[in-house]
Amino acid sequence: MDEFELINRIRVRAGARADVVLGIGDDCALLEVPAGLQLAVTSDTLNAGVHFPPETAAFDIGWKALAVNLSDLAAMGARPAWCTLALALPEADAGFVAGFLDGFFALADQHDVALVGGDTTRGPLSINVTAHGFVAPGAALRRDGARVGDDVWVSGTLGDAAAALRQWRDGQPVDGDLRARLDRPTPRVALGQALGGVASACIDLSDGLLADLGHVCRASGVGARIEVEALPASAALLSAGDAQRRRTLQATGGDDYELCFTALPACRQSVLDAARSSRVPVTRIGRIDHGNVVLALSANGDAWIPAHAGFVHFG
Ligand code: ADP
Ligand code: MG
Repeated sequence: MDEFELINRIRVRAGARADVVLGIGDDCALLEVPAGLQLAVTSDTLNAGVHFPPETAAFDIGWKALAVNLSDLAAMGARPAWCTLALALPEADAGFVAGFLDGFFALADQHDVALVGGDTTRGPLSINVTAHGFVAPGAALRRDGARVGDDVWVSGTLGDAAAALRQWRDGQPVDGDLRARLDRPTPRVALGQALGGVASACIDLSDGLLADLGHVCRASGVGARIEVEALPASAALLSAGDAQRRRTLQATGGDDYELCFTALPACRQSVLDAARSSRVPVTRIGRIDHGNVVLALSANGDAWIPAHAGFVHFG
């Protein structure tokens, strides 16, 4: 399979949308942005051995490469539309490519995302996806909108992916439910859009709650007080280890791809309505405050220090 045959295999599955004037095949794609909307653009790379264990299934690599980008669009409240795919492969392995494309397009088709272009090269396995979505002017959920007194919320459950990674690194059998959360994260696309006009700030959790909420607080010039005991945990995580280990995974573990957002206390019902309409549970975990980001075991409890902080490249 040479480069052009490979591109052709990708092209036949790229998905059709009325706003794709010209897709894969020319020097550029031509795309029609709906009148009156802004384009939200994001890009994320997955490198073998850095972002996923080398033996990860091809399907899951394809799924996750797109999922992490759709998660960024979700965090801005944008509606996904298009993406490009820059693929570096050590060899044109037909079996790997088939699995990869199955995973990639399983998620792309779920969200009506068209693949409109990309690049294919030989090199160590690396996947870069750039995703584009639409958002109304002024409606994007930014990091800089949190205000003192806002509630802090998260979607879904925290710490599952990090627990799977920990089990894998420790050479233990990896729990199937935890592993699924690591390999096939669910971007909270519908929730992000439903939070438009409700949330004051939002971020998706890729590097761990503490690190990512820190980004929101720095951008907004505020601090936060988070109740560690309020952090949502899955049944699989609850049975995977002791409480101290679980709390550390929830507060600092990466790869959750949940949304962390802030909203006025007066908006609690609207937040719950957004959660119901998008079928994603949300949990109130603390509030925005002056000062730093503080983790406490309970609302009035002492500060709690995790065993480690979030993931930083070159850190
Ligand atoms: P060029 O040399 O002009 O950049 P390429 O030969 O790299 O063109 O690509 C040919 C066409 O195939 C372009 O439209 C490009 O966007 C598309 N393409 C290449 N690789 C991929 C890929 N991995 N996924 C999607 N489209 C791709
Ligand atoms: Mg090219």
